[in-house]
Amino acid sequence: DQQYYDQVMARIEHERVRFINLEFTDVVGMAKCVTIPVEQFNDCLTHGKWFDGSSIEGFARVAESDMYLFPDLSTFAILPDKVRLSYTAEGHRSDDIGNADVVARVICDVRTPDGEHFDGDPRATLMQALNLAREMGFQYKVAPELEFFLLSLEDETPKPLPHDRRGYFDLSTDLAATVRRQMVYSLHKMDINIEASHHEVADGQHELDFEIADALRIADGLMTAKYVLKAVAAQHNLYATFLPKPFFGVNGSGLHIHQQLINSSTGRNAFLNPQADYALSEEGRWFIAGQLAHAPAMCALLAPLVNSYKRLVGGYEAPVVINWGRINRQALIRVPRLGSDSESTMRVELRCTDPSCNPYLALAVMLRAGLDGIQRKLTLPAAMDENLFLHDEGDRLRPRAPMLPATLGEALEALREDPLIRETLGDAIYEGFLDAKGIEWTEYREQVHPWEIQRYLSVF
Ligand code: GLN
Ligand code: MG
Ligand code: MG
Ligand code: MG
Repeated sequence: DQQYYDQVMARIEHERVRFINLEFTDVVGMAKCVTIPVEQFNDCLTHGKWFDGSSIEGFARVAESDMYLFPDLSTFAILPDKVRLSYTAEGHRSDDIGNADVVARVICDVRTPDGEHFDGDPRATLMQALNLAREMGFQYKVAPELEFFLLSLEDETPKPLPHDRRGYFDLSTDLAATVRRQMVYSLHKMDINIEASHHEVADGQHELDFEIADALRIADGLMTAKYVLKAVAAQHNLYATFLPKPFFGVNGSGLHIHQQLINSSTGRNAFLNPQADYALSEEGRWFIAGQLAHAPAMCALLAPLVNSYKRLVGGYEAPVVINWGRINRQALIRVPRLGSDSESTMRVELRCTDPSCNPYLALAVMLRAGLDGIQRKLTLPAAMDENLFLHDEGDRLRPRAPMLPATLGEALEALREDPLIRETLGDAIYEGFLDAKGIEWTEYREQVHPWEIQRYLSVF
């Protein structure tokens, strides 16, 4: 795009950018980056930047390892000081010791030597799902609620010590409040807009709420937010963690996602029908039904760690049942009550997602599942609005509604049985993901955990 190109070149010149980070994401959702000196940038825009894809998780077999990174100029941003600078052991800022170089980043698409989108690139998977939505006449907009813990760092190893002792929405003037504002401001400087930030339920737990935007922008923004938050926390000797359930017996960290489909021809919220039950249009009902139908397989992408399933248990405001409702915090999908601006407040909130997910793949399968509901006009089961928090985990054994997978193993099993989700991921990602996660699950399953010794050794 000539317009982006001119803008980017002007900024590079004006802000004296010295280096550019070329960013992309692997199949399991780790951020990757190649740094080039700014003099290489024009060449990279025309020919792409070559790299060897064979060492990237889930990327490619050795025989077809030549990959090229092509920048998406709309994602160009300059790294704010808080993200770029580090401190030396003696407490000097890195710009004091001659590292004052301005660094920018740009998110890249991964292409093959023929210039095709590489089918192992998660960003391409999301773009493909968005194309299908466009063909069906919709734009997909989402707003995530990103939860995380701030931990104290001692001896370089993060200890399970929450940094503070406060709870949900508590007003405080302590370090964490400052750190949170610096996080929001750093993101803002990179054009990632946070609508609100607050303390969460648990000690040391916080949340950033993103402004609703196009799903691709949000996925890019989430990948960025994860390293920005870690960098800002590190400036204060804190560790920001996105592990879904760092502490037994304490609320975990989720990534609830508010979703809207916007009708491309009218510009209106396709989920809204003020006359209908729950103000939910037919498209809205079908969309939710589609996500419920594919929930078990989607779960492998939305909650991809062994640890994710320690969060998805009763009693901690995380979902366990495959259902929907208005007030029920244990439901997988919630349709919140409308505010005075019903066009913007009509949202479908999916709650099993956690911040360890690959946001490109998570949003791709969520959208595809919802669109499948619309294409097949799936019937939505009745809402469950009684409080469904399980009274004890034994309820899992005699459920009154289908349950979410209880382990990563169950979720992977469901993924193997869902052809639509497989097709959405494409063969390369599907296989790469299952390989990596299968190994992770087996490794965990074979461990002898401290709980087993404590519970059994003296008895058997
Ligand atoms: N932390 C909860 C979860 O794991 C959500 C709590 C909330 O936002 N009300 O999903
Ligand atoms: Mg919230
Ligand atoms: Mg929350
Ligand atoms: Mg929420």
